[in-house]
Amino acid sequence: MSRQQQAVEQARKAFQTGRSKELAYRINQLKNLRRLLSEKQADIVDALKNDLYKSENGTQLYEMIGLEGEINLAVDRLAEWAAPRPVEKNLLTIADEVFIQPEPLGVVLIIGAWNYPWAVTLQPLIGAIAAGNAAVVKPSEVSAHTAKVMEELLPLYLDKEMYPVVTGGVPETQELLLQRFDHVFYTGNSTVGKLVMEAAARHLTPVTLELGGKSPCYIDKDCDLSIACRRITWGKYVNCGQTCIAPDYILCEPSIQDRVIDEITKCIKEFYTDDPKTCTDYGRIINQRHFKRLMALMEGSSVAVGGDTDESQCYIAPTVLKGVMANSKVMQEEIFGPLLPIITVDGMEEAISFINQREKPLALYVFSSNNKVIRQMISETSSGALLANDCLVHYTISDLPFGGVGNSGMGCYHGKYTFDQLSHLRSCLIKKLNMEGVNQMRYPPHTTKKLQWARLFLLKQVNLGRLRKVAKVAMLAVLAAFIVQRFLR
Ligand code: NAD
Repeated sequence: MSRQQQAVEQARKAFQTGRSKELAYRINQLKNLRRLLSEKQADIVDALKNDLYKSENGTQLYEMIGLEGEINLAVDRLAEWAAPRPVEKNLLTIADEVFIQPEPLGVVLIIGAWNYPWAVTLQPLIGAIAAGNAAVVKPSEVSAHTAKVMEELLPLYLDKEMYPVVTGGVPETQELLLQRFDHVFYTGNSTVGKLVMEAAARHLTPVTLELGGKSPCYIDKDCDLSIACRRITWGKYVNCGQTCIAPDYILCEPSIQDRVIDEITKCIKEFYTDDPKTCTDYGRIINQRHFKRLMALMEGSSVAVGGDTDESQCYIAPTVLKGVMANSKVMQEEIFGPLLPIITVDGMEEAISFINQREKPLALYVFSSNNKVIRQMISETSSGALLANDCLVHYTISDLPFGGVGNSGMGCYHGKYTFDQLSHLRSCLIKKLNMEGVNQMRYPPHTTKKLQWARLFLLKQVNLGRLRKVAKVAMLAVLAAFIVQRFLR
């Protein structure tokens, strides 16, 4: 039996003991995970420094705070999330108990990516634990130092039978994908996303695909360019552009292109000094393969800002490209690096049609002081998320479902959405064996009179949750009983 098969079997056995169904167990595991993040901060920071040249404070800001917030939320709200959820009833089921009972799915496979390796791997794990599942955790082999630390640390803090870590690359992940899971949660590129979905389909296993793509950023000429460019510069160059929701390219009118370039140049200097290479807050490209890929993407476009590179350090300076055409190389795939092309368009209508001719993005950014422009962008385009006048920050709101649409992914997570995504929302109806008279209208022979009553009983919605309606409902119940007695017996 392979290492991967063993891990899945072990997780399934642990799940079958039923211990993860206890809320106290789940909360305990979540608290242990929180303890890991605080006690082993130094190991986490070191690993990320080695993988992506992330600074200590950057690691805190972009990975750890979010995870801590998600754990705190899950610990605080778990009882509420896991409780039966009453639903609106119709007259026919008025006397019954009708509710949704979230239940664990079973064994979840979590496949992480390398760019924010702790966030994208542990965040789904938080939801898997909260929802009462077992989980096999497969960190990305590309962020190798982090994968090693995760493999060492998780079993020290968590129930290692229930949440085994499996490391490895493509062959190991493919071996894992041959196994039967109850859900696969994958973060990474769309090409591999298709392979994951294909493998899951063989077992009819549902998937969440957190993918990427090109997230456009439209800058309206009537906006405060200096503030807009500051926010865009931050969103683009954080983690050296290796952020799934980074603005991929700018769309703007030719008349503001030079001012946009000037403003971004100023912000690059302000954030990363005159020499970003020596700035501890500026990262590196993950490896030589991605470095070479990015170099090739620059071909055929002219560099307006930056452009310095050092292959030995996988360093690419914050770069702006101008004179970029729709058919330029850099526009053919997600950039996922510190290159920011500017495409000029003849206003908002052309920007919208440019966006709509392409795959649906993970995020769409619009900068404008005109509310009409923002509303038009919302109503005439589609994307995983839309932000006006800022970048990335929707990620920090646990109440917003985070995920893509179309080519940028399926399913969503964060906060309660992760809990629901990794739960089965089971419909439950509990009826008593009395009041059989009410059911006469559905039993043959089907007469016209019975049908008329059935219409009334089935189409009348009753929301028992609203206290104001209770009196009305009681009256309807009396009426129902009267009708049954008088006409249907
Ligand atoms: P990656 O190379 O780390 O791959 C992701 C995972 O897939 C890894 O665990 C890897 O082992 C596995 N994998 C790779 N090739 C495979 C194959 N052929 N068969 C089976 N498994 C395979 O990461 P990546 O794909 O380079 O990640 C970058 C992409 O992820 C970008 O497109 C980015 O936008 C996207 N991303 C999305 C989110 C999100 O939340 N939506 C977050 C981070 C990254």
